[in-house]
Amino acid sequence: MSRAVAIHKFGGTSLGDASRIRNAARLLAAARRRRPVVAVASAMGGVTDVLLQAARDAERGRIGLARKAVDALKARHAAAARELGVRFEEAPLRELSAALEGVSLLRERTARVTDLVSSFGERLSSPLLAAVLAKAGVPARAVDARDILVTDDRHGAATCDRKRSDPRVRRKLKPILAAGILPVVTGFIARSVKGETTTLGRSGSDTTAALLGAALSAHEVVIWTDVDGVLSADPRLVRGARLLPRLSYREAAEMTYFGAKVLHFPAVLPAIAEGIPLVIRNSFRPEIRGTTIAAKGDGTKGIHAVTAVPGMCLLSLDGRGMTGVPGIAARVFSATARLGVSVVMFSQASSEQNIALVIPEGDRARTVAALEQEFRWERLTGSIDSVNARAPIAVVAAVGEGMRGTPGIAAKVFAAVARAKVNVESIAQGSSECNISFAVDGKDWVRAVRALHRVVSI
Ligand code: ASP
Ligand code: MG
Repeated sequence: MSRAVAIHKFGGTSLGDASRIRNAARLLAAARRRRPVVAVASAMGGVTDVLLQAARDAERGRIGLARKAVDALKARHAAAARELGVRFEEAPLRELSAALEGVSLLRERTARVTDLVSSFGERLSSPLLAAVLAKAGVPARAVDARDILVTDDRHGAATCDRKRSDPRVRRKLKPILAAGILPVVTGFIARSVKGETTTLGRSGSDTTAALLGAALSAHEVVIWTDVDGVLSADPRLVRGARLLPRLSYREAAEMTYFGAKVLHFPAVLPAIAEGIPLVIRNSFRPEIRGTTIAAKGDGTKGIHAVTAVPGMCLLSLDGRGMTGVPGIAARVFSATARLGVSVVMFSQASSEQNIALVIPEGDRARTVAALEQEFRWERLTGSIDSVNARAPIAVVAAVGEGMRGTPGIAAKVFAAVARAKVNVESIAQGSSECNISFAVDGKDWVRAVRALHRVVSI
């Protein structure tokens, strides 16, 4: 294989029915004119949920419901196949029924059997897509990812063993590609070292695409979904939100962290680790180029996007006695870590008389209790006055490559917020240099986001 391949992954809505599948086949046929393509198929939209519900029903002995679900799945796929004029391979459904009958009989649903049951969505969709391609004159072959991806046995959220898997991926797919055939690989599913079916976690088809991209040193991994790409702000909040043509990995990571649903980041780490560009595109509007997320962003410095996470609580520890006492911040973090509470933002004044941290509002009571307990001695002796909590607050973040190194950006951010008459409660500048985040009162955050978006430059 001389030319680098592209991986094209289709999510559930992009394979939702016959016309969507036909559309996906069309996009694949077009992509293949430019370079060799490997397709990754998710289950048809909603199918994984149906399968998981059927497994739960079977466990409770409601086998009638589980059987109905299988019938409905069969009808849905058969109808799509009929409309597309291809054969529908029913064999997997017999295995699914047997698994569900077993669960119902034993009234026991292990993580292992849950994975087996939830694997059928992709096992049904991939052959369908391959058949449609073949019918349209594009030689294609369905590939079961369990033949190429080996994982640990953490059923439900297994991790791929790339050392074992990468050579298998290459051994299996390269000859298929060399023969001019387009492999259509099942997303989401894999197998454990013991040979059992595993899944890579919900939305795991993105992971499959990233893994195949990494193993094949792909030119790019294209993620076909139902949005145009990554926008400069949530369009439900900001009317002028714009499509971002290009983002760096770090910018995208910051945006995801601060509430934007860009991509499930951990899912695509294998591709990021190899520096492979990820392209997010809308299968409903393929004329739009989407967003490319790559090692380098668009090369411009400035604010590229605004995101926010509402529903947060601002905790602060105040007291003169903290000055020069080492380990206070560490104790705060170990307390939150023990509770498993995620700290969205943290700041410490250089006078060391105040520490502020932002956590989800729902974790407020137990975090306050834990910090009061942790610093009970300091509170008794008066070196820490109190643990204060304020909610609801929101963390608003301005994201853009090279922000910290560029003079005047922070001024721009806070001038915009001040113009909107929003009071800033606490500020943190991400160490990644590509975000400035701050906490505002829960009633002000939408205004802050809108005001800040006016100074976005793309
Ligand atoms: N079908 C799986 C899910 O619904 C995987 C995916 O769609 O990426 O989570
Ligand atoms: Mg998905």
